[in-house]
Amino acid sequence: MDPRKDTWNESDKLEWLSKQRFQRSYAEQVLSRIDKLKQVGQPLQVKSYGKLTLQGRQQLVIDGATLTALEYEDRYPLYYVQVGDLANGKPSLIVTGGTHGYEESGVYGALEFLEKDVQEYADRFNFLVFPCLSPFAYEVNQRWVHNAWDPNRSFDRSKPYVPESQLVMDVVDEARKLAGQDFIAAIDLHETPDRDKVMMPPQYQRYGINITSDDVLIPKGYYLISDIANEDPGMATAIIESVRKVTPIAPDPEIHGEKNIEGVVVSEGTDPTHRGLNQNYMKTLAKNAFTTEIYPEIHPEPRGSQEAIQAQRATILGVLRYL
Ligand SMILES: [Zn+2]
Repeated sequence: MDPRKDTWNESDKLEWLSKQRFQRSYAEQVLSRIDKLKQVGQPLQVKSYGKLTLQGRQQLVIDGATLTALEYEDRYPLYYVQVGDLANGKPSLIVTGGTHGYEESGVYGALEFLEKDVQEYADRFNFLVFPCLSPFAYEVNQRWVHNAWDPNRSFDRSKPYVPESQLVMDVVDEARKLAGQDFIAAIDLHETPDRDKVMMPPQYQRYGINITSDDVLIPKGYYLISDIANEDPGMATAIIESVRKVTPIAPDPEIHGEKNIEGVVVSEGTDPTHRGLNQNYMKTLAKNAFTTEIYPEIHPEPRGSQEAIQAQRATILGVLRYL
């Protein structure tokens, strides 16, 4: 059981929503790149896996504009890119970007991997790459989806339905059946930016947990959350060696109560407040599951953002070069 008590009702959620503003364009910054990937053709197969929906809300009033349920659906078509025939017996990898929409380097890192790297590895591996799981949250630059659920606590079918998470689970469950074997690795691309200092306290408060910005640790570098049940511990080490070449590794001896060993933080996956993590779900059908946490403010802009994207890409490449 999740011990946290959600103190928010619908009007709290609407109030939160009313404060949001569109800050980026999914169409211009993500869909345009996915369109170009479509034009590449084989071995890249760009597949639709649905649309976001307002789930019963009639409309969304945001940023002085009104989006009807239909306009919302049309604004947020969902795509992933498959490489390879999943039933061909080759090892398959899953990459997810933008689970948290405000952590943009995951979105851009996944896209850049598809644009620059994936073809080099298409003979040896299959891929399922979801570049932008939460396009509404991406546009408003937030963690949460329109009805204020955290998509990275919603990879759990017993929780309230969050399409950002559960539509991915539908694709991945089906892919696992087709493959007839577990994925070799699943990588979920995140960031821990300075902004978490102001963002996290009110979000915890919703669940009756009082923390201050001083309680929010922002490690000054990259770290990798690795599931305790991962079959190949060498994979995490290989990722760190790959990432170290593009961005510093977090020096903190402990992160979120766990030891940080050269940038690897092993998660037991038992923290009840973490129920529904993308990584925990992926571990049920992947031999190795990881979450990246990148510090984009390691350098002033634009270098920090660029380095964050390269660190996401280096994570995926670290796995591929290791295997
Ligand atoms: Zn995140």
